[in-house]
Amino acid sequence: MRIFNFSAGPSMLPTKVMERAQGEFCDYGKTGCGIMELSHRGSEFTAVIERAEANIRQIMQIPDGYSVCFIQGGASLQFAMIPMNFLKPGSFAEYADSGSWSSAAIKQSQFFGDTRVVASSKDTKYDRIPAFSTWKTSPGAAYLHITSNNTIFGTQYSSFPDSKAPLLADMSSDIMSRRVDVSKFSLIYAGAQKNLGPSGVVVVIIKNDFAAKAAEKVPTMLKYSTYIEKKSLYNTPPTFGIYMIALVTDWIKEIGGLAEIEKINNAKAKLIYDKLDSSKLYKTPVQKDSRSAMNVVFTLPSEELDAKFLKEAKAQGLIGLKGHRSVGGMRASIYNAMPIEGVKKLVELMDSFEKANA
Ligand SMILES: *Cc1c(COP(=O)(O)O)cnc(C)c1O
Repeated sequence: MRIFNFSAGPSMLPTKVMERAQGEFCDYGKTGCGIMELSHRGSEFTAVIERAEANIRQIMQIPDGYSVCFIQGGASLQFAMIPMNFLKPGSFAEYADSGSWSSAAIKQSQFFGDTRVVASSKDTKYDRIPAFSTWKTSPGAAYLHITSNNTIFGTQYSSFPDSKAPLLADMSSDIMSRRVDVSKFSLIYAGAQKNLGPSGVVVVIIKNDFAAKAAEKVPTMLKYSTYIEKKSLYNTPPTFGIYMIALVTDWIKEIGGLAEIEKINNAKAKLIYDKLDSSKLYKTPVQKDSRSAMNVVFTLPSEELDAKFLKEAKAQGLIGLKGHRSVGGMRASIYNAMPIEGVKKLVELMDSFEKANA
């Protein structure tokens, strides 16, 4: 039976990508070696990392003047790397707190300097993206940091704030899920394990002008300019992860790029939200204008029904639906690689479960 994995991350990869990786695993391009056995400076891997970068540039329509870097340490290391590079003494950084990952980023920034939370939805249990009219930004900030999709609480920015300060975004859980105007941002980063590939590697898209403003005294491995100047090859990069990103981005191009991906993702999300809106059994704590197309959070009336729902889902090949421990209930993560068939199967289960437990 085909298993549909709704896990928040690591999450499903496209079946076609998994099969291609399997086919090339032991013998990449008739070399007699697997890609992860080949030198990161050899011609085969050079072609792979160049392809991954070119695909990302093409898919996201990245303007000139930006670099694309592959950095290790997960999105969580970016939480520290950003202030380490850009929050200099005498300056201050601004953050919007829209959930657990934003808070984690804020905490790291506080190690380095003046960190100001200019907007928050904490008071309403992160059920929304804070309305832009309430943001208390000040002139002169080193940067303004946002989290475009809140993986745990199931909220997502439907538009981005106009910012005088350089705008930085953690897009770990919605990168390449929809069209985004990259020129609005000075830095975008995303851990790969939701929409791009395996965990560990992070894609960083950074404006060169902004990178040039970084502090001088930053360790080499933690400095963005190292990755820009050495094309992510200062030391040995996570070659297998980068190879997988090349395959996933090949797949996105094959499907028809972000316009097509966005259409499919919206259709998938609509199926579940329509069900929630017409149901008496299921509820979602998320405000309508802040609903995420990637992580759909919903609740049942009791923990007994939660357990029963998860059990029946598993029996039908639908796994990974348990909500984050800090929120409870259910969470259906429906990233790019989740086929619409998986979502339809989930909604059918929600229907039949509601009838049986009304
Ligand atoms: C998963 C996630 C992270 C953490 O990523 P790691 O690679 O585990 O460090 C950070 N931010 C967001 C929005 C996430 O979804």
